[in-house]
Amino acid sequence: MRSLHETLDQLFEHAQGCGLPAGEPVPLFSALGKVLAHDITSPVDVPAYDNSQMDGYAGIAVEMNNALAPMAVSQRIAAGHPGGALESGTVARIFTGAPIPSGANAVIMQEQVNVDAQGCVTFTEPVAPGQNIRWRAGDIRAGQTILEKGRRLKPADLALCASVGLNRLSVRRPLTVAVFSSGDELRQPGEGLEAGQIYDSNRPMILAMATELGCRVVDMGCLPDRLDVTTSQLAKAAETCDVILTCGGVSVGEEDHIKSAIGALGTLALWKVAIKPGKPFAFGTVGGATFLGMPGNPVAAWVTFGLLVRPYLLARMGAAQTLPTRWRVPAAFDWPAPDLRQEFLRGGLNANGGAEIHDRQNSGVLSSVTESTGLIEIPAGQPVRRGEFVGFIPYTELL
Ligand code: AMP
Ligand code: MG
Repeated sequence: MRSLHETLDQLFEHAQGCGLPAGEPVPLFSALGKVLAHDITSPVDVPAYDNSQMDGYAGIAVEMNNALAPMAVSQRIAAGHPGGALESGTVARIFTGAPIPSGANAVIMQEQVNVDAQGCVTFTEPVAPGQNIRWRAGDIRAGQTILEKGRRLKPADLALCASVGLNRLSVRRPLTVAVFSSGDELRQPGEGLEAGQIYDSNRPMILAMATELGCRVVDMGCLPDRLDVTTSQLAKAAETCDVILTCGGVSVGEEDHIKSAIGALGTLALWKVAIKPGKPFAFGTVGGATFLGMPGNPVAAWVTFGLLVRPYLLARMGAAQTLPTRWRVPAAFDWPAPDLRQEFLRGGLNANGGAEIHDRQNSGVLSSVTESTGLIEIPAGQPVRRGEFVGFIPYTELL
């Protein structure tokens, strides 16, 4: 058995050897969730001009502090409508986001201003030079790198690109990923069930997870437990796809045909990864395609997708961050030492930030995933006592 860490190293080494998909320019919104292919530098300063942070009055601080009489308001400057230069001895009425008139060096907010019957103003607070001004380039300088290649673009990243005027971004072409389930007992949702049959729940889950990662997914359906069909279907998928994902049929049972099919078509390594759930994990190649075989138990499929398949797919797409972020949190439970496998329990955080486990940890129980918010990591061979720190991977890190 190899550790999760060793398994990931091998997957990353393989991914590196595959080379990255080409970059392609896409409209801003289509870049959501994709991996940036180049660093992005800003073509402009942000803000592009000095502007007011408040509704108020712009002037010269020293004049405003030392005025012997109420000051005249010489102009009115609204957002989007630049004014003229500031007339000495006066202030300008100004609104949030409006350009500071040249000559002015401070804005006083309107709540600190009294306006008399003649429309002249006095101030209830002293004015400091620079106050309430957002200076040109205070956030971003033209030429500055604002996002680095390898970033998976989130909504705020798109907004940042929009704020510097970019409407197209160069992102990695999506990987084409074929998804199969396998097993004679599986029926599709919407069909009736006969004795001994269950619904195929892994395939929609895997299709959805790969879609969320920005892959182009191809639903290849469910493989029967027959070597000939399995072989021909996997060969067909390899002709058009970069990666083939399967679930089930990779243990050592006589009805597990996927590994024989891959062995005949290409290369196969059946890895016993030291994690629970999820021990059997198959890895190989068919033609130019990579094959990743997850176990059939739904929770094991969920865990191996999140901990092994997801990092591999992200590495293939050139993502800078491939591993989920783990938090260190105190355990609010006791757990006996697992065997030599690292164990991943479904659970969540309580109001005090402690990790609590879901009450059903059987790897066939899918509701334990929907009713929990993350994976709690129990180190191989070590018991956990209440109050000791454990790793917690929120499910949001697995999408
Ligand atoms: P296998 O790895 O094929 O021996 O499957 C292990 C267990 O997972 C069996 O109980 C299967 O019925 C179940 N299983 C396999 N594939 C799926 C699937 N796509 N959806 C739900 N359960 C599955
Ligand atoms: Mg099976």
